[in-house]
Amino acid sequence: MQNQSLILDHVSHRFGNLLAVDDVTLSVEPGEIVCLVGPSGCGKSTLLRVAAGLEALQQGRVSIGDEIMADGAVTVPPEQRNVGLVFQDYALFPHLSVRDNIAFGLRDISAAEKRQRTDQALERTGLARWADTFPHELSGGQQQRVALARAIAPRPRVVLLDEPFSGLDAELRHQVRDGAAAILRETGVATLMVTHDSEEAMYMADRIAVMREGSLRQLGSPDDIYLHPADAFVAAFFGDVNRFRGTVSGAGVETPLGRVDTNGVADGTEVEVLLRPEALILADSDGTAATVESARFVGRTSLIDVSIGDGAAISVRIRVPGRQLPAPGTRVFVRRNDDQAFIFTPSVPK
Ligand code: ATP
Repeated sequence: MQNQSLILDHVSHRFGNLLAVDDVTLSVEPGEIVCLVGPSGCGKSTLLRVAAGLEALQQGRVSIGDEIMADGAVTVPPEQRNVGLVFQDYALFPHLSVRDNIAFGLRDISAAEKRQRTDQALERTGLARWADTFPHELSGGQQQRVALARAIAPRPRVVLLDEPFSGLDAELRHQVRDGAAAILRETGVATLMVTHDSEEAMYMADRIAVMREGSLRQLGSPDDIYLHPADAFVAAFFGDVNRFRGTVSGAGVETPLGRVDTNGVADGTEVEVLLRPEALILADSDGTAATVESARFVGRTSLIDVSIGDGAAISVRIRVPGRQLPAPGTRVFVRRNDDQAFIFTPSVPK
């Protein structure tokens, strides 16, 4: 029964008049991690809860492998879906040891098998030496791993995680999510994980599902989503963008940073051109002349804001590697890397 796919088919969900999930179709293959991302309130948790059966299905179908979990006729209760759940608050039982927390969900198996599965989950999550301690004696990262161990111990067909790392500080978060991703891949289970953190999704996911206002805007590999965003919303969700508007003429559009090709877009179409700050290059010559307004070192990169043109100058942001801090007022030239120039018809009226 193990290692089956999770299939959400035309799922919609309302709270009163609010359409929280709007006709979402999505499947997660065995061994695959799909991250659901999107701004607060876009319906990620609701979709996950519908998949788990914690929210009664209103429209569509939820299946695991060939088995229907919920549709108009069938509803399998959450505890019979063989789904492992991990939430932001680990919801561990404070009066039970780590071992007993993990063993808690193991039912209908012999004591020997229970012990063996618990030991295996402890081993996999690196918790063996904490087996007899209690949750309050553990760090946040360790507690999170207990929650993961508890979810995988029953050998679920699907694991659903809702913001599992958001209670952890940055450093621990990186460590714990690396470990969690490795464990989930190793078990070969289909994993659907909610996060609002686009970088976390890029890092962990085999595929990312981007939601906005209840609907699925794009489903693809991290590369696809970052390099070929379906719309301006997706492009901007995965990082800063410089936005310009213009009208297509002769297969191109004029921007403050020069003419950009618009292959295939009809002449006369109003378009929005999005350029990522890291797709712009600061040069000493050749390119669009600009003046540095400000520059900040933000760790691995520096952000440089420049203005182009006189009078009502246009401001453009450039991201460069390392620490590069030209003084305000420095004259520079800006060049583009058009691999990351995105052309869309505007989503917001002028
Ligand atoms: P966040 O990242 O902030 O957790 P989300 O993308 O997970 O947000 P949901 O929690 O799925 O979003 O909520 C989607 C919409 O449904 C929101 O507008 C929310 O206010 C609404 N909503 C969620 N649960 C309920 C509920 N039980 N009753 C009424 N409205 C709800």
